[in-house]
Amino acid sequence: MGSALKRSLAKRQSGEQDGNLKSSRRGPGRKDAQPATEADRILPMLIRSIPQTILTTDQDFAELGLSRPLVEAVTRIGFEHPTRIQAEAIPAALEGGDVLGLAETGSGKTAAFCLPMAEHLQHGRGVRGLILSPTREIALQTREFLRLVGAHHNLSTAILIGGVKMGPQIDALKQSPDILVATPGRLLDHVRRGNVRLDHIEKLVLDEADHMLDLGFLPQITDVLDLIPTERQTMMFSATMPPPIERLANRLLKSPTRIDIIPHGRTARGIEHRLYLVEPDNMRPCLMALAAAESGSMLVFLRRKIDAEWAYRQLVQEGHAAERIHSDRSQAQRVRALDGLREGEHRILIATNIAARGIDIPIIEHIVNFGVPDTVEEYVHRAGRTARGDAEGVVSTIATWKEKELIRMIEKAIETRLPRLSAAGVEPYRERRKTIRGRPIRRRRLL
Ligand code: ADP
Ligand code: MG
Repeated sequence: MGSALKRSLAKRQSGEQDGNLKSSRRGPGRKDAQPATEADRILPMLIRSIPQTILTTDQDFAELGLSRPLVEAVTRIGFEHPTRIQAEAIPAALEGGDVLGLAETGSGKTAAFCLPMAEHLQHGRGVRGLILSPTREIALQTREFLRLVGAHHNLSTAILIGGVKMGPQIDALKQSPDILVATPGRLLDHVRRGNVRLDHIEKLVLDEADHMLDLGFLPQITDVLDLIPTERQTMMFSATMPPPIERLANRLLKSPTRIDIIPHGRTARGIEHRLYLVEPDNMRPCLMALAAAESGSMLVFLRRKIDAEWAYRQLVQEGHAAERIHSDRSQAQRVRALDGLREGEHRILIATNIAARGIDIPIIEHIVNFGVPDTVEEYVHRAGRTARGDAEGVVSTIATWKEKELIRMIEKAIETRLPRLSAAGVEPYRERRKTIRGRPIRRRRLL
C-alpha cells in the first residue's frame, strides 16, 4: 500500500461541481419536489465555491474495499483519493471490528466512518446504524455527507437533534431509516416517547469521542449504551484523546484497531499561533484591534454567552459585519450564523464552545481565543476550525497573566512557545517591577 502523501485539489471550486451535486441529489422522480429543510440550507458546506486543498494518499477508494456505487458517489462529491485516516480506517471498519481513529482536525474523519457504515447498512431493514455527535451543527454536517453518498444507493438516514420540532423527526423515523445521526439528548427524548427503538443497532459511532465520554456527556452516553445491543461494532473518532478518556473508551471497545495519525505537536499543520498578553482591562480593546487589523474571515471564541453578546454588539457598532452563535440562539439562527460566514455575508463570527469542534468552514482564516481555553484539547479543537485540509490559518489568543499556567500547559502540549505579539494601540502586558524600600526586587519573569 502506497502511503506517500500527495496534494490533490478537491474539485469543489467549479460550476461543474454544482452540476454534479444537483444530479446526485435529484434522483429519478425526485425532481425539485423536496421542501427546503435545515439540512438543505446547510448543504453548500460540502460543495462550495471556495477552492481548498487537502492532503490525500495516492490510493484509490476502490482499493479500500468499497463497492462501486459508493466509489462513484465519493468521486461525484469531488474526492479523488482517500486521506490517510480514510485509507486506514475504512478497510478496518469494513472488516467489522471496532476502530479507534485519531487524526488531526480537518483530515476527513467524517467520510472515514460514514463510508463503511453506508456500505453495510443500505438494505432498508430498520435502524441499524447510529452516529452520535456532540453538537447539532456537526450532526447536520454528517447527515449531509451521508445524504450525498447515499443519494444513488438506497441509503436512508434521519437526523435527531434538539432545538427544532419533533414532528418532522418523528415522520422521518416512521420511514424506517438505516442510519440515525443524533445528538444524545434528543435521541433519548425520542426513545422515551417510544418513537424509536435502538435494539437492532449493529454499528455505533462516537464522533468527537473524547468529548462524548467526558463528564458532561457521559451520563447520556451511558443511557444510550444501555439501550443498544452489546454485540455491535463500535467506532470512535477524534483529533484529541486524553489518556484517562482513552482508558474509558477502551472499556467500551472490543480489541479495536487503533489508528493514531495525530501529527507531532498535535494541532493541524499550517497553523500559526500567536499570543497577545495584556492587562485584563485591555482584553476588549485588543479584540477590537485584531478585528480591525485584517479583512479575512474570523472566528472568535469566548467562554460565556454574555461576552459573546457584548463582543457581537461592539463589533457591529464599530462597523464590522459580524454574527454570533451560542446556546441561547435558536437553531435557525445558529444555522444562519454559520452559513452566513461560509457565504461571506458576515466576516466575523463570535462563538462559545458549541462551535469549537467539528465544524467545517474552509474559509476561516483567523481564530481568536478571547481568554485561554480551559484545556489543551479545547485549544486544539478550536484551532482546528482554521487551516482545514492544508489551507493556512492563524490562531491568536488574547490572555492575561492570570492564565499563565494554562498557557504553559498548551505550549508544552503543542511543543511550541506561543510567539508574543502586540496589537496596534494596545499596550502589551509587562510585569511591573516592585520595590522594597526603593530597591527593586529581582523576580523571575512570569512569562
Ligand atoms: P474532520 O472530521 O477530520 O475534522 P471532515 O470530515 O470535516 O474532517 O473533512 C474536512 C473537509 O475535507 C471536508 O470539507 C471534506 O469534504 C473534505 N474531504 C474529506 N475527505 C476528502 C478527500 N478524500 N478528498 C477531498 N476532500 C476531502
Ligand atoms: Mg469531524
